[in-house]
Amino acid sequence: MSPAELLDLLGRDFMQRALLAALLTGLAAPAIGTFIVQRRLALLGDGIGHVAVTGVALGLLTGASPTWTAVVVAVLGAVLIEVIREKGHTNGDVALALLFYGGLAGGVLISGLAGDGAAGLQVYLFGSVTSISPTEVWYTAVLALVVLTFTLGLLPQLFAVASDPEFAKVAGLRVRAYNLLVAVLAAVSVTVAMRTVGLLLVSALMVVPVATSQQLARSFRSTLLWAMVLGGVAAVGGLVVAAWLSARATVAPGPSIVLLALAMFAATWPVGVWVRRRRRLTEPFPALGTGTPGPHEVDEHPHQHGDDCGHPAVRHEDHVDYVHDGHRHAPHGEHYDEH
Ligand SMILES: [Zn+2]
Ligand SMILES: [Zn+2]
Ligand SMILES: [Zn+2]
Ligand SMILES: [Zn+2]
Repeated sequence: MSPAELLDLLGRDFMQRALLAALLTGLAAPAIGTFIVQRRLALLGDGIGHVAVTGVALGLLTGASPTWTAVVVAVLGAVLIEVIREKGHTNGDVALALLFYGGLAGGVLISGLAGDGAAGLQVYLFGSVTSISPTEVWYTAVLALVVLTFTLGLLPQLFAVASDPEFAKVAGLRVRAYNLLVAVLAAVSVTVAMRTVGLLLVSALMVVPVATSQQLARSFRSTLLWAMVLGGVAAVGGLVVAAWLSARATVAPGPSIVLLALAMFAATWPVGVWVRRRRRLTEPFPALGTGTPGPHEVDEHPHQHGDDCGHPAVRHEDHVDYVHDGHRHAPHGEHYDEH
């Protein structure tokens, strides 16, 4: 296919819709994925994806929009997964496995009853973004915006909970509620990504751009933002590659998107190794555990804490404390108190 033909193809209505859906997916999935990776639950999206198959099949059976039935079932599944995980049962992983296999097998069975068989599911298992309808683009946009609003709006709180739940609890954050929110948002982004990369590859778009971003970014915030950029590039780029190859063969965009994301990880890996080695050379002695913090001087804080400094703010009697480096901290005249 010549570049002119490719441009012509990309300009068509159905391709414009596909590109928009891919971009939204590429931004939303890594945004929530950053918290999931931080919590070491990289396979959570995979599990939710399996459960969502039953949701799609219920849509096919009842004639309702599979997007919405998938949202409902995926959210219920995610809440159940989170509850099982939180209980910390010894058989928790077996319970999760039963849930995942049940979701996948149940979905295939129900879609068989709906008269579509596995073929009806194909579109949702591996994605088929080029056949997405205008209404479905709207659904995708709304759901993606929900995910982005919550993840970016609650970034300091979600970060505190994901990185150090014990400490977040001490700081007065409602850890359970935030964990549940992350699970629910993960379920929503699984549904967002369903038409783009498919339920079986959903997790890749939630994890791979984050892993790539972690190679280079230092802070949590920049990891999240770079993961979104990389996810967006992979999703749009993978779709264009699939469109370009479509002249010769039928290539589903889902796999090309995931392979492009993996290629980006492979390309940045040596850079990451080099960056980490340099960091070790410039900081030969890692900071030792500080133990219980005493009151400290103003110049130990490179910034004035405030609404958007990135530290979780906790209301405490008549003032606001900011959580950082293992303690709660309140400005008081010329110095800071630890609470
Ligand atoms: Zn601060
Ligand atoms: Zn205080
Ligand atoms: Zn402090
Ligand atoms: Zn004081």
